[in-house]
Amino acid sequence: MEQVLITGAAGFLGSHLCERFLDEGYRVIGMDNLITGNLTNIEHLMLNENFVFSNHDVSDFVNVPGKLKYILHFASPASPIDYLKIPIQTLKVSSLGTHNLLGLAKDKNARIIVASTSEVYGDPTVHPQPEEYWGNVNPVGPRGVYDEAKRFQEAITMAYQNFHDVETRIIRIFNTYGPRMRLNDGRVLPAFIGQALRGESLTVFGDGSQTRSFCYVDDLVEGIYRLLLSDYTLPMNIGNPDEITIGDFAEEIIKLTDTDQKVIYTDLPVNDPKQRQPDITKARSILDWEPKVNRAEGLKITYEYFKSLSSDELYKTEHNDFTDYIKK
Ligand code: UDP
Repeated sequence: MEQVLITGAAGFLGSHLCERFLDEGYRVIGMDNLITGNLTNIEHLMLNENFVFSNHDVSDFVNVPGKLKYILHFASPASPIDYLKIPIQTLKVSSLGTHNLLGLAKDKNARIIVASTSEVYGDPTVHPQPEEYWGNVNPVGPRGVYDEAKRFQEAITMAYQNFHDVETRIIRIFNTYGPRMRLNDGRVLPAFIGQALRGESLTVFGDGSQTRSFCYVDDLVEGIYRLLLSDYTLPMNIGNPDEITIGDFAEEIIKLTDTDQKVIYTDLPVNDPKQRQPDITKARSILDWEPKVNRAEGLKITYEYFKSLSSDELYKTEHNDFTDYIKK
C-alpha cells in the first residue's frame, strides 16, 4: 500500500484531504501539532487501520517510517486573527516547516505539494488574479507574516525543484469554505453564521464593498488531487471565480439562516484586500478542473454543519488556547 504524509491533518482542509486519500486507497499519516487544528475533525478516521495520527510540529525536524509516495503540506494558521495571535509560528510553519518537508521529500523520493495562497497577491492591483501576477504585499503589515512566509515557501519549493530535482507542485488556494471550518477563527463565513445562530448582528468590516470568491471544499480537494497527479510544476490557482461583495454576502447569510439580524459596519482592518477573484484559465485547460458546487448548495451544507455544533461550541469565544506555543 502506498503511503502519503498530510500535514495540518486535523485542520479544515487537511481533514478533508485525509478522507480523500484514504478513499483513493492510500495509507495516510496525518500530522498536526494541534495549535489551530482540532482532533474532532479526524476522530472518525482514528479507527481506520490505514490512518495514523502523528502529533508533531513540522517546524521541527520531520521524519516518518517507511516509504512515501506523496507529501501534502497543508499545516498553517490560516485566518487573519491567527496571524496576529501567533505570528512567529505562522512564519515558521511555511518557512522552516516547508524546508523540513522538502528535505523529507528529497530523502524519500516523494512528490510534494505545498499549499500556497491568494495572499501571495496581497491587495491585488490586477483583477482577476492570474498566476503571472507578482502581487502587492506589505511585508510589515498585519498579514505580512503569512503572506511573506507563503511567498518564501513558493521560492524554496521552486529551488528544491530546480536544484535538487524534487518533484514539487504549488497550489494557490483562494477563499474556501465548508464543514469543519473553525467557528471562531474570525474568518468571514464562520463569523457571519455564528453571529446569525447566536442572534447577534453581522459585523461587516468597512463598507462591505470588498470582494471575495468562495470555493466549496470538495471542489478544492478535487483540484488539489488533480494538480498533484499532473505534470504541472509552476504555481496554479484553484478557487471559485464566483465573486461577491462582503456586504452582499452578509445578506446571503441572513437569508440562508432565515433570521432577521441586522448588519453593523465596523472599521476595515489594515491591508484588507479590496478585491479577490481567481483566474482559473490554467486549472481549466491543464487539469480540466472547474468548481461544480455553487454557493447556494455549498452554503446549505456548511450551515447544517454549524447548526450541528453544540451550544458550548457556539458560545465559545476562543477556539484554541495558544499560550503553550507563544514563547516557542
Ligand atoms: N470580514 C467581515 N466581517 C467579519 C470577518 C471578516 O466583514 O466578521 C471581511 C474581511 O474584512 C475581509 C473578508 O470579510 O474583507 C474576508 O475575510 P476573511 O478573514 O474570511 O479572509 P481574507 O480573505 O480576508 O483572508
